[in-house]
Amino acid sequence: MALLGTRKPKFILKSQDEIERMRQAGRLVYQVLSKCRELCKPGVTTKELDEAAYKVYTDAGAKGLFLNYPNSQQGGPPFPGNTCISVNDEIVHGIPGQRVIKEGDIVSIDCGVNLDGWCGDSATTIMVGDVHKKVRQLCEGTQHVLQLAIDNIKPGRKWSQIARLMQNFAERSGYGVVRAFVGHGIGRQLHEHPQVPNYVDRKDRNWKDFELREGLVLAIEPMCTLGGSGDTRLLSDQWTVKTIDGLPSAHYEHTIAVMADGCEILTDGT
Ligand code: MG
Ligand code: MG
Repeated sequence: MALLGTRKPKFILKSQDEIERMRQAGRLVYQVLSKCRELCKPGVTTKELDEAAYKVYTDAGAKGLFLNYPNSQQGGPPFPGNTCISVNDEIVHGIPGQRVIKEGDIVSIDCGVNLDGWCGDSATTIMVGDVHKKVRQLCEGTQHVLQLAIDNIKPGRKWSQIARLMQNFAERSGYGVVRAFVGHGIGRQLHEHPQVPNYVDRKDRNWKDFELREGLVLAIEPMCTLGGSGDTRLLSDQWTVKTIDGLPSAHYEHTIAVMADGCEILTDGT
């Protein structure tokens, strides 16, 4: 789940021991997404994927973080799924249901869990069978945008340095960078300070830079669109966010911990 809106600024740095506990939660999210990847074939419904995800984390003694998540639209319904499943031109916050996955679809699955008081959050876009070359490249490109961030995080660097690398790669590839939703700090809460945008915009009053510090744990989650516009529209279900032009969108997210010499991914199954 990606963050919309503002929070009171307060950095909560994590100790080595706390990062290890967050890794347990992260590993479980990895297992959930691996199970979904295994099941995500033509003919399966998004509801079936959602139920499989629920079983994996519930069997492990964890709680899901998305079910009943409050809506940012005034009076909007709380989130009704265990995971967010967003297909093709759906960017984020898709509601699992009776939609049947087809050959050539791209299926973004986002999962967050709380295990023993600590949160993990990760998303991946699964390519189902034979995906159009341009759509496959979009997925690979978005994955690269996330990897660029991971490879360049170091204590002392500003987030704007990292976000610029991400934005430049995406835009030079012709992709749109979604701005309405951003990454976030994570720890005992799913959404902690700071906001972690995938772009730089100093004219935007909500855009705030921060320094990367050892012990900071972030969920980094670029969303890139094929059509070159990062503009979004909200469906009448008050959750599902689609691209403005109906073209596909990809979403990859890892929870990472800033370490003395770089960062470690907590949601890659290691
Ligand atoms: Mg997420
Ligand atoms: Mg997130």
